[in-house]
Amino acid sequence: MHLVVLTGGVGGARFLRGVRAHAHRTGAQVTAIVNTGDDLSVHGLRVCPDLDSVMYALGGAADPERGWGRAGETWTVRDELAGYGAQPDWFSLGDRDLATHLVRTTMLTAGYPLSAVTEALCRRWQPGVRVLPATDDRLETHVVVPGEAGTEAIHFQQWWVRHRGARPAQQFVFVGAESAKPAPGVSEALATADAILLAPSNPVVSIAPILAVPGLREDLTGARAPVVGVSPIIGGAPVRGMADACLAAVDVECSASGVGRMYGARGAGGLLDGWLVDAAADPDADVPGVTVRTVPLWMTDDATTARMVAAALELAQ
Ligand code: GDP
Ligand code: CA
Repeated sequence: MHLVVLTGGVGGARFLRGVRAHAHRTGAQVTAIVNTGDDLSVHGLRVCPDLDSVMYALGGAADPERGWGRAGETWTVRDELAGYGAQPDWFSLGDRDLATHLVRTTMLTAGYPLSAVTEALCRRWQPGVRVLPATDDRLETHVVVPGEAGTEAIHFQQWWVRHRGARPAQQFVFVGAESAKPAPGVSEALATADAILLAPSNPVVSIAPILAVPGLREDLTGARAPVVGVSPIIGGAPVRGMADACLAAVDVECSASGVGRMYGARGAGGLLDGWLVDAAADPDADVPGVTVRTVPLWMTDDATTARMVAAALELAQ
C-alpha cells in the first residue's frame, strides 16, 4: 500500500504524523508532496517553511508550542542581526534552525536541486515518510493587496508574518508556476499511489500552489487511486491560522462544504472522490458528486489523527 499526501506545513505535518502512525501499523509506504510556495530568501539563506515544518515534526524536533521551528531554540543570531538593524526584522530564524538553512543554501548554491537537498536533510531527521517538494523550480506565492498607488504584490510571508493577514488579500499569485515542473518522484508517486490524501492544510496557500505546478493536477486527477480530502475548517472556522482570510480572497465560503466544493468532484473537473468533515460541527456538510463522511477531525494526538486517516482510507475504498 502506497499512500501519497499533499500537504502544507504545520497542519499538514500534524496530519502526516497520524498517517505515519497508521502506516506503521499496516505496513504502508508514505510519500508527502510538500508546498514550496512559502519559500523565501532571508539574509542570503533559502528557507522552506513547509518542508521544514514537516521534517521537524516527523523528526520529533518541532517546537510544540510555537508550532514552527525547532524545540529548545535559542535566538542569539537574530538578536545580533537586530543589533545591525538588518532587514527583514519581521522574520525570525532561530540558531538551531539556521543550520538547516545554511546546509540547504550551500547545497543549492553547489547546484543540487531542492529535492536532493531535502533528501539529504531528511537523512538526519529520519521522518519515516518520503518527503518531496512539489517542485524543484522557483514557485513563490505572492499576495495582491491594496497599495499606495493601486495594488501591489507582496511575498506571502510578508503578508502572513509581517502584516498578520491584516492587509485585505485580493488575489494569490503563484509566481514562477508557469514554467515549474513536478519534482523528480512526484508524478511517479501519484501514478503508483493506492490512495491520495489532501491533508487538512490551507486550501488556498498550501494545496493550491502544489496544484499550480503544470501537470501535477492532471497527475492527480488522472491517477488510478481514489482522492480523499480532509477539511481544515471545522464549524465555519479554521482550527488555526488564517484560512478564513485566504478563502475570502478567492470568494469561497469558510466552511467544510465551501472548501469541499472549491476542490470539487473528480467526475466534474474537480479533485475529490471523498471528503472528511467534522462529525460534531459539520454533520450536514454536502459536496455534490463527492462522498462525504463525518468523523472527529481534531488532531489532538497521533493516535486520534491515525483514526482519522483510517477513516479517510476506508472512504477511499
Ligand atoms: P501551514 O503551512 O503551516 O499554514 O500549515 P497547513 O497549511 O498545512 O495547515 C494549516 C491548516 O491546518 C489550517 O487551515 C487549520 O485549520 C488546519 N488545522 C490545524 N489543526 C487542525 C486540526 O486539528 N484539525 C483539522 N481538521 N484541521 C486543522
Ligand atoms: Ca505554509
